[in-house]
Amino acid sequence: MKKLLVKAFRSNHALEVLFSSLRWFFLLMSAIVFSTQLSDNTDTFTIVLFIALVAFGVVYMGLSDYCLYRKPENSSIYKIMTKGGPFFDYIAFLCLVALTGGHESPLFPISYLIILHVCVYWRYKGAMICAGLLIVGFTVIVLLQGFPTVLSSQISFYTKLIYLFLIGFLGGIIVSRERIHYEEKSEYESMAKQDYLTGLFNHRSFQEDLKKAQMNRQNSFLVLADIDHFKKVNDAFGHVMGDKVLRTIGQIIFETVPEENGKGYRYGGEEFAILLYVDDFELTDFYLRAIKNKIEKTVFQTDEGEFSVTMSFGCKQIKTELNRDIVECVDKLLYEAKQLGRNRIVYEHTICVEEATH
Ligand code: GH3
Ligand code: MG
Ligand code: MG
Repeated sequence: MKKLLVKAFRSNHALEVLFSSLRWFFLLMSAIVFSTQLSDNTDTFTIVLFIALVAFGVVYMGLSDYCLYRKPENSSIYKIMTKGGPFFDYIAFLCLVALTGGHESPLFPISYLIILHVCVYWRYKGAMICAGLLIVGFTVIVLLQGFPTVLSSQISFYTKLIYLFLIGFLGGIIVSRERIHYEEKSEYESMAKQDYLTGLFNHRSFQEDLKKAQMNRQNSFLVLADIDHFKKVNDAFGHVMGDKVLRTIGQIIFETVPEENGKGYRYGGEEFAILLYVDDFELTDFYLRAIKNKIEKTVFQTDEGEFSVTMSFGCKQIKTELNRDIVECVDKLLYEAKQLGRNRIVYEHTICVEEATH
């Protein structure tokens, strides 16, 4: 539960899981409230309507949960079901209130949750519109069922309308404010991890991820790569062109390594690092060859003519948290690749013997 709460502060998905659980809880509550209010005067139509509503609710909520747990967050069905939730809640709320005592229904506070749910996606404006719609819907139900004649009931009715307005107004402001803070924080966090020029992750991010990979004893490969004779590119075509080369190589690394299999970093200057979260040497070799070949084949056009660059790679498997000097060792492999003539990949088994796992 604590885990879910912490997650709910951070992700809309966890918040949806929370709202979805609440929906099941209120369905049960509605059934209890309705059955306690049943009497000999309850007509069959009301009972059938309630059962139909519950049946529809179960189907809708089941479908919604399926999308919540089984579909990716960026799929349109996921978005339709989660963002559509408040619309379903609105209709269900009005029906339930009408069936469980109108202006005296104990289920009335569900409306506050609907407003808060709407806030998550449509902020202050959405909260105010939702509160307005709830005020209108609730008033229509009360008028259709007969406006209360007793003064205390009338006061209670008006108070509920004021509460709806206040929750929409204050809830809208508070949630919107928190959401803005959250989004700004996420943006700053991603900026702190990203390299401005290449769009890849930066050196700091690399050090953190490497430490994690070593501590988790995750089977991964560490790659260090350096552009060959890059100084000549800068000298011949200028630093702006040099920056373009760096950006293009960043793009090639990003496009070649799927997110689930690894991450690319700008280690510094014209050096790159790649962490491949794979156990398989063949796959690692496949990715590195693909990157190397794509770089080699990319032609840069300039006023002084066209050119292309090549890159050298050193690569070693991260096996235990004990090989703390892994970066140094991979750097040696990269140096070896340069010595052997550049534009090549050198793996650990070719020169670098695994350090003692003492
Ligand atoms: P080698 O094959 O031995 O690696 O030769 P190299 O010329 O690439 O040698 P070295 O690694 O010493 O040169 C790195 C050059 O990269 C020097 C520097 O001007 C350039 N460089 C580093 N960072 C940047 C950058 O952000 N933009 C540009 N345009 N150039 C950069
Ligand atoms: Mg270098
Ligand atoms: Mg270089």
